[in-house]
Amino acid sequence: MRRDPTGLPGLPDLHRHLDGSLRPATLVDLAREAGVALPDDIRFTPGMGLPEALARFATTLGCLQRPDAVARVADEMCLDAAAEGVTTLEIRFAPHLHLKGGASLADVVDAALEGVGGRAGLILCALYGDDPALVRALVEVGRGRAAGLDLAGGPASDHRWGMADYAGPFAAARAAGMGITVHAGEGRPAREIAMAIDRLGAQRIGHGTTLLDDPKLVERVIAEGIVIEACPTSNVHTGAIARVEDHPLPRWLALGVRACINADNTLLSDVTGAEEHRRAGRIPGMTPALLEAAIVNGHRAAFGRVR
Ligand SMILES: [Zn+2]
Repeated sequence: MRRDPTGLPGLPDLHRHLDGSLRPATLVDLAREAGVALPDDIRFTPGMGLPEALARFATTLGCLQRPDAVARVADEMCLDAAAEGVTTLEIRFAPHLHLKGGASLADVVDAALEGVGGRAGLILCALYGDDPALVRALVEVGRGRAAGLDLAGGPASDHRWGMADYAGPFAAARAAGMGITVHAGEGRPAREIAMAIDRLGAQRIGHGTTLLDDPKLVERVIAEGIVIEACPTSNVHTGAIARVEDHPLPRWLALGVRACINADNTLLSDVTGAEEHRRAGRIPGMTPALLEAAIVNGHRAAFGRVR
């Protein structure tokens, strides 16, 4: 296995959002071109909470309304990940949030795939609250081209649609050979993780920080080989955990849960995949063997590359 300068083997990163992982200089360029005013500091701060964190994406998304901007960021994400020593990469984004410049869903997905150029798998994100008809449209545009489908963001009391309403489109995605991952249990009750598995057929869970609250669910996740995409720094920013040192990752891995380590948003959380692995390696209870297991889990859990 290739070794990066930190001594870690070639790393996986399966959970990295395009609209949260621009290069700082690219954000400045694109903001100038798009006429978007940037805040003094766009980065997340510890404990800011998920709603406030999600609001930061409005600014980056304002800079990503042209397909060429999406292609540029996808390309740079692949270059940056390779420079960090990430050898298995999946990039995710919600194409329907990039249409204000007049592009179609297909145009935006084409642009992302062009930027990726076969170096990463592309995951399309539906968002909590989206109309199920839109989720189905994402499946159609991703069919045979996207590696997976995600449900991202978070539930809100004013949403007309909930997770169960997406069962049909997610079943269609599975039938089309797309992998399924769902943001669930991100500081929210563990039953959301169970729902994601039952209703949407999730093979991977984004965050899942509350998993250990439900011992029966832990058994099931282990038995079914469900992969948990841990994003420790991001979890501190959203307030799902207080400190990286409190992350349950070592306990998951010691129990036999297939968990892996991910950056989530390299710009907004100001991390890299390599740094996230280093931080995870310092969580009390982590051992070199558990860190290695997480790395292997990530490589093995990739949904595959663009076809
Ligand atoms: Zn995420």
